[in-house]
Amino acid sequence: MAALLSGDYRETCLWQEQARPPEVAIAAPPRSADLVVIGAGLCGLAAARTAAAAGRSVVVLDKERLGWGASSRNGGMVIPELKAGPSRLTRRYGPDGTEMFRQVNEAFDYVEDLVTGPGGIPCDYRRTGLLLLAHSPFQVSAVHHEAGDLAAHGQPAWFLRREQLPAEVGSDQFAAGMVLERTGGLHPARFHAGMARRALEAGTHVHDRTAATHIEGAPGRFRVLTTRGPIEARDVFVATNAYADGVLPWLQRRMTPVSSYIIATEVLDPDVAHSVSPQGRMMVDTKNLLFYWRLTPDGRLVFGGRRSLDPVDVPTARDYLYDAMIRLHPQLAGTAIDRAWGGSVAITLDRMPHAGRHGGIWYATGCNGSGVATNTWLGHRMAQTITGSAPPPAVSRLRHSAIPAHRLAGSYLPLVSRWFTWQDSR
Ligand SMILES: Cc1cc2nc3c(=O)[nH]c(=O)nc-3n(C[C@H](O)[C@H](O)[C@H](O)COP(=O)(O)OP(=O)(O)OC[C@H]3O[C@@H](n4cnc5c(N)ncnc54)[C@H](O)[C@@H]3O)c2cc1C
Repeated sequence: MAALLSGDYRETCLWQEQARPPEVAIAAPPRSADLVVIGAGLCGLAAARTAAAAGRSVVVLDKERLGWGASSRNGGMVIPELKAGPSRLTRRYGPDGTEMFRQVNEAFDYVEDLVTGPGGIPCDYRRTGLLLLAHSPFQVSAVHHEAGDLAAHGQPAWFLRREQLPAEVGSDQFAAGMVLERTGGLHPARFHAGMARRALEAGTHVHDRTAATHIEGAPGRFRVLTTRGPIEARDVFVATNAYADGVLPWLQRRMTPVSSYIIATEVLDPDVAHSVSPQGRMMVDTKNLLFYWRLTPDGRLVFGGRRSLDPVDVPTARDYLYDAMIRLHPQLAGTAIDRAWGGSVAITLDRMPHAGRHGGIWYATGCNGSGVATNTWLGHRMAQTITGSAPPPAVSRLRHSAIPAHRLAGSYLPLVSRWFTWQDSR
């Protein structure tokens, strides 16, 4: 179904229009620093702030304008999430898996602490809870198990039978659900701008429109070549997630960028908004090619997802998402779309985040679609690791495999998509 477009329709990110990052000078970066951070998303900025607060001189580089990356164009869902629940993590990885589950919850606490309370980053944060919805009867037992598993591991989570769903979601398309109370929603561009301000206040030099093109040398005496001149650095941290390029080819080969798209409706009548999402939760379904949706602070619905893993143009993605949104929520028929945009998420072979060191260069990557909490915390924790105040995170002990035939990923992604679509049809 072709989307109904408002007179104000634009293919730009709503969040980025509503909040601007701080201005940073277009000047050559300093010639030397203790730490050079490549990538000024949430991960890089959190790392920079923590390292600067520990007394290090820090330069952050981004090849685009500050606030361009996934960090300010996402769904704004703050979820303590890895792609496996606590029992499976422990089964798969032993005590490290148990620790990963503890740390992903620490990541959630870390972000919540940044945005709540006096001096918190103003970004419309609200502890909304997550509503995970079984898209077919086939998924009900998995959702039931996940709620039980989370609850058994101390998380406030509960299962919802189909007849309990009307209090949670205005749709009759789901077979069951689960609420995880420890989830929140924020305004991504306001959060990202706040993190940039925090990094600057801590004394970091932030240089956007400055690409790192090559890293040479060894720990203690790196030389980072940039489009605005070289920087000597004791340490280098690469925080490029889905936008990784040839600056560290080893890292680029360990993730595949996959597009995700979002549409934003016009501002909804409050009764319609309430009928779609009576509790205002962050909503996600159980598909591989999943949908995620939520109300915005200014009363719209943002609805995200993808039809396949290979990229399409924004109008194609928009029409697909609009059709799905109306199918799930017929009360939105006649609602126009104001904005549509896309971005990239970093998929790793094991669908887990990774962080560590290669050739002496520090890195964190692999959000697998959920990095507002995880990547922000990983940046902070890796800075603690670099400055010697905390051990590396548990995910640093995972085997970090390259994507097979990485260069050919573009040609086999459509096949993987078809497999996912078949699985999702059950
Ligand atoms: C549409 C969409 C919806 C999403 N929704 C959610 C959600 O609701 N909840 C959630 O938890 N996660 C979500 N995510 C994922 C989340 O946005 C990311 O995990 C997170 O923002 C990653 O942060 P980051 O700092 O690691 O990377 P980014 O914010 O992507 O920053 C990486 C930066 O590196 C820069 N860079 C790359 N190469 C170089 C170079 N050579 N030199 C200099 N700079 C370089 C890029 O320009 C980029 O700005 C979503 C992502 C997308 C795209």
